[in-house]
Amino acid sequence: MESPGGRAYDPDKAVRVAHGVILGACVAALGFSALLQAGDARVELFGWPCPMKCFVHSVFGIRCAFCGMTRSFVLLAHGRFGEAVRQHPLGPAMFGYVVPQALYRAAALLGAKGRAMSRIGLLGWIAGAAVLAAILIHWLAYLGGLWI
Ligand SMILES: [Zn+2]
Repeated sequence: MESPGGRAYDPDKAVRVAHGVILGACVAALGFSALLQAGDARVELFGWPCPMKCFVHSVFGIRCAFCGMTRSFVLLAHGRFGEAVRQHPLGPAMFGYVVPQALYRAAALLGAKGRAMSRIGLLGWIAGAAVLAAILIHWLAYLGGLWI
């Protein structure tokens, strides 16, 4: 199929780009988690506080669904599981989703194909949906006063 610019649409290239973008996001999240240091209220890079604040928390004074997730990731990257769970109870689930995603996307970019890769890909979609649903349910419980 020709695009308006005259170049043929290549679905394989689009899939490779998607694998690359997701792999980059996973590697960035894990890499920054390893570089950063987390305290109870903030994240630091070599002692410098991270300037990013949660928009929802800043404007509305409530935690968003992902508040504490960065600190949880950083603590997990440093092997501090208990503290990570206290920052966000689903941080370990999200971390446990991101690590195999990076491996799967790297394998796909290296040319891995076949039924096993298709099944792993489907399992990844299901796991991702389950983790996001759990994060949403946790946030709704927080908003309803059922969870701190
Ligand atoms: Zn937030």
